[in-house]
Amino acid sequence: MSQITQFTLPASEIPKQWYNLGHDFPEPMAPPLHPGTREPVGLDDMKAIFPENLIEQEMCQDEFVSIPDEVREIYALWRPTPLMRAVRLERALQTPAHIYYKYEGVSPAGSHKPNSAVPQAWYNRQAGVKRLATETGAGQWGASLAMACRMFGLECVVYMVRVSFNQKPYRKLLMQTWGASVHPSPSLETDFGRKVLADDPECSGSLGIAISEAIEDTIKTPDTKYALGSVLNHVCLHQTVIGEETIKQMELAGEEPDVIIGCVGGGSNFAGMAFPFIRRKLHDNKSYRIIAVEPDSCPTLTKGELKYDFGDTAETTPLLMMYSLGHDFMPPSIHAGGLRYHGMAPMVSHARKLGLIDAVSYPQDQIFESAVLFARSEGLVPAPEPAHAIRAVVDEAVRARESGEKKVILFNLCGHGMLDLSAYDLYLSGALGND
Ligand SMILES: *Cc1c(COP(=O)(O)O)cnc(C)c1O
Repeated sequence: MSQITQFTLPASEIPKQWYNLGHDFPEPMAPPLHPGTREPVGLDDMKAIFPENLIEQEMCQDEFVSIPDEVREIYALWRPTPLMRAVRLERALQTPAHIYYKYEGVSPAGSHKPNSAVPQAWYNRQAGVKRLATETGAGQWGASLAMACRMFGLECVVYMVRVSFNQKPYRKLLMQTWGASVHPSPSLETDFGRKVLADDPECSGSLGIAISEAIEDTIKTPDTKYALGSVLNHVCLHQTVIGEETIKQMELAGEEPDVIIGCVGGGSNFAGMAFPFIRRKLHDNKSYRIIAVEPDSCPTLTKGELKYDFGDTAETTPLLMMYSLGHDFMPPSIHAGGLRYHGMAPMVSHARKLGLIDAVSYPQDQIFESAVLFARSEGLVPAPEPAHAIRAVVDEAVRARESGEKKVILFNLCGHGMLDLSAYDLYLSGALGND
């Protein structure tokens, strides 16, 4: 083999610590507020839905947090994940740029989400919790939490946005295979779901509604807590294993990235890749350009407003300082289901406010064009979400070709698209619109 294109680490190199960018922000973040009093929320306000150990982690100011051994043992089922150089994509684009991707699709659930589902289930079990309730859009988070709960002997109940429940049965079947109960949301299980259905029996659901249902279920069921797959500080924290491994792998490859790219829904896979590199930007004077990519039809960072807003439709969560399109925003049913959230992780929002990251958006047809180009050059079929990152990578690589620059581009390929082939079907048959 004349050229090495895969950079792997041994299991002993699975990170021992998560990295907390909160410690290193040059300006502190605005605290979450209680919606009634508008005072910063305390531990007690959140105890109804989260275990104390995770609330502490949510508020943690330490720079590094140790990863429990039992969590690392489960991470070892798929971590460290590979870093690949996409030489065939480089050739297809005739670019002098070097393109690298970190591949998170090797997890059992097919995405980065188990990086947080596993520790969340572990901390809940440590706290004596017996059952976790959550919501899911396209099913990536629900599937990941179902698997994690199974590994630690917890029950798992998932409120799945109705349109996905009906149109995308495969991840629902994954959840059920791992033993979770799955309800289409809005459901008849909760007061809020019944109210929404009474107003609109045909309601196809939204993440905001499903979150409200999962929180209501949590509050009303003994020994139950709630788990969220993105947005919160502790979720961004858990995902930093991605960037920590990548830093070592780029060293193996003997290169430094100039541009780092990830897609953003709630912001967690992007945070996981970007935050360890932002640490180097802040401590070691590195000058990476870091780009978050989102859909034109749900343009939270590029068109949203930085303000205090609710995480859910029923206005039950604390107010979070974040870029938001408004908690009653109903995104069109684009195929990158994971990117249909009205808000953005407060940590990612703060990084944007401080100018540490950039953001761009693309329409759906351009996303699938790049996804198919990637599949035809590298083989791997990406999920529609990371296909947003690929679109931005392609644009950067073409710019490098035009300017003759030998740029190094790194992106996070956060999941495979093998359960999203119906979207590819629409694209290939010319029936995919832009929303
Ligand atoms: C859930 C998901 C996303 C969006 O969530 P983030 O928190 O922004 O990472 C993106 N890609 C995939 C594959 C997902 O499963």
